[in-house]
Amino acid sequence: MRDILPPESGRWRRFTEVFADVVERAGYGQLVTPLLEDLGVFTRIGDATDVVTKEMYDFVDKGDRHVALRPEMTASVCRAFAEHRPTVPWKIWYAGSNFRYEKPQRGRYRQFDQVGVEVLGVDDPYLDVEVIALAWEFYARLGLSRVNLIVNSLGEPGDRARYVEALRAHFTAAGDGLSEQSRATLDRNPLRVLDSKREVDQEHIDAAPQIAEFHGDDAAGHFEAVLAGLRALDIPFTIEPKLVRGLDYYRRTIFEFQGDTLDSAQNALGGGGRYDGLVEALGGPPTPGVGFALGLDRTLLACDDEGVFPAAPPVLDAFVVDVTGGLQAVALTAELRLAGFAADRGYDNRSMKAQMKLANRSGARFALIVGDDELDAGTVVVKPMSGAGEQIAVARSQISSYLASHPPQN
Ligand code: AMP
Repeated sequence: MRDILPPESGRWRRFTEVFADVVERAGYGQLVTPLLEDLGVFTRIGDATDVVTKEMYDFVDKGDRHVALRPEMTASVCRAFAEHRPTVPWKIWYAGSNFRYEKPQRGRYRQFDQVGVEVLGVDDPYLDVEVIALAWEFYARLGLSRVNLIVNSLGEPGDRARYVEALRAHFTAAGDGLSEQSRATLDRNPLRVLDSKREVDQEHIDAAPQIAEFHGDDAAGHFEAVLAGLRALDIPFTIEPKLVRGLDYYRRTIFEFQGDTLDSAQNALGGGGRYDGLVEALGGPPTPGVGFALGLDRTLLACDDEGVFPAAPPVLDAFVVDVTGGLQAVALTAELRLAGFAADRGYDNRSMKAQMKLANRSGARFALIVGDDELDAGTVVVKPMSGAGEQIAVARSQISSYLASHPPQN
């Protein structure tokens, strides 16, 4: 778990603001859920996933309730849907921290942030397309271009069950040829063996049966419609038959966004898919859902790699240098801030030289200098800090309009 200091923290906030802008224009409203839920909300995700079996921060609270810090947000959204019974389609976005007890490394933390959307109550394949397109637009807004979309379909629950059995038979036949970890995974969830990055497992994974062979007509038709929609929007994708996503409730469309610049073990920037049965498991009516979660931490690492969406401290319009005791600076900065400008000043009545150094370091567009002469004359010396332009004396009462008529050049 990490502290996020300025200016990086400002970049985090802008990340969420850009996301909110993209999804709110598509009719999504923000849902805020508690960080802590009854443990049962998350165990419904599936007892064959590491997120649930190994990584949960769960504990018994002072009222003897078994609770957990959320490891992801989809389950909380479905819990809220079951509880409030809103009209459908329910189009929701969210942002915030999740907690997983994983081995920390670059791009993998125990507290990490996500933004995401979920839509409940609609089966339309073109909604899957809308959701994917929103994530795609968001990456573009950040300036990222080296993002790959991979898609697959897990079929209907029956298709998926037959596929899981075929995989189980295939990997069981590999016997000791499979890594010890994958043999343990095989017992719990044969699909997850496809995720293994271990060298010894690769030949068995390459030879494994593919889910498309098990798709019934419904699943195949849905998937074709999704692909047609992506083509219509010119969103490039790769079909990856081995893509499976961890959580048990996925069906039909699943997708992942991978950052080209990141190490393969941590290159998943985000992912999602269509799911079924989760709202029911949480006490609501049968309700289909589709959504995604995008990891903030890794996406910002990808931004660093591509040199886009930099952390930028707020730009000051003015830094007030007051060598008359400090009260002028107090009044002038307050006045400028009220007028909508970003203004800062020095403290502790320091020398002109020391204050000018601060003004320089602040990155302000102008230093506004008040000495005894200016105080007597009712003026302020305005010094452009960019090096361009002469310094001039401006009447104190005209400072705001002077700044307004000299906006930032960019
Ligand atoms: P998931 O909920 O596992 O599908 O994760 C969705 C996205 O959240 C991933 O693609 C990552 O970008 C991010 N993510 C998941 N776990 C972590 C973690 N431990 N640290 C940082 N980011 C994570």
